[in-house]
Amino acid sequence: GATLEREEVAYKKLDDILVKDVMGLPIVLMEKATVNDAVVTLFLENVGTLMVVSDKQALVGIVSRKDLLKITLGNAGAPTMPISLVMTRHPNIVTINLNDHVLDAARKMIFHQIDSLPVMRTDVVLDHEEIIGRITKTTITKLLLDLATN
Ligand code: ADP
Repeated sequence: GATLEREEVAYKKLDDILVKDVMGLPIVLMEKATVNDAVVTLFLENVGTLMVVSDKQALVGIVSRKDLLKITLGNAGAPTMPISLVMTRHPNIVTINLNDHVLDAARKMIFHQIDSLPVMRTDVVLDHEEIIGRITKTTITKLLLDLATN
């Protein structure tokens, strides 16, 4: 199970650890969702960022705490606004592949000053990418602790 996988990770060297070894589940929201739905989901799922997906499960946006704060402040109509008006969208979405090194994910988050990255899997046959995970600054911090204590 998950515990075993994490223990295996703990004995590896940081340079060898891949995104797929440490990633978590993506917390997603449908494109049609509202700002209110997004705020509720942030609290229910206890995350700071949500990935927005289309009907076909394609990644279309990212929405963070600050995006929601900005739109909500002094705006009585905000709760019913569609999330698509608030989210960061392509081509500005920064992603990482599940086979990339976890250190590359860390570099991307620092360079772009963001807290999390959607993890993508490339389907070579269908020639498209799908979202299958998420990596955050907390993921990296936990990994450091694991490495330090094993
Ligand atoms: P917060 O806004 O809560 O501090 P972030 O620092 O992660 O959280 O987000 C800062 C900005 O960057 C927000 O506008 C958010 O939509 C955007 N953002 C967050 N993650 C990504 C990402 N992986 N790719 C592109 N933009 C992102």
